[in-house]
Amino acid sequence: MAYTYDDENIFAKILRGEIPNQTVLETDHSLAFRDIYPQAPTHVLVIPKGKYVCYDHFAQEATDAEILDYTRTIGEVCKMEGVADGGFRMIANAGEAGVQEVPHLHVHILAGRPLGRMLQ
Ligand code: 5GP
Repeated sequence: MAYTYDDENIFAKILRGEIPNQTVLETDHSLAFRDIYPQAPTHVLVIPKGKYVCYDHFAQEATDAEILDYTRTIGEVCKMEGVADGGFRMIANAGEAGVQEVPHLHVHILAGRPLGRMLQ
């Protein structure tokens, strides 16, 4: 699948500094910030700075340095937010069936309340 990146998506605007965000952590290749409509006491979005639509796109085309940085940033945010204590959930929605609202790869990190069973 060939992906086309939309430079006008909200997270591209956040990365360009055109829209403010509550940054949790910024690294060379990644940015973590709080979701504007939190679904749990902890709700952080982690995005790569590169122009990747979804995880599939990222895994196929990102450099090793970007992949390592992104993976480590997610881990660091989990540590900073203390999510391992009560448990947490990571979600990366993709495309239409996955109901992805913003077409720039993002992992949701949710914690701080019982999150319920997702898969039956
Ligand atoms: P998706 O449905 O694409 O997986 O999730 C997109 C997420 O982005 C939603 O949870 C939504 O609340 C969040 N979001 C949408 N617009 C903004 C924004 O301008 N700033 C921040 N911080 N989050 C946003």
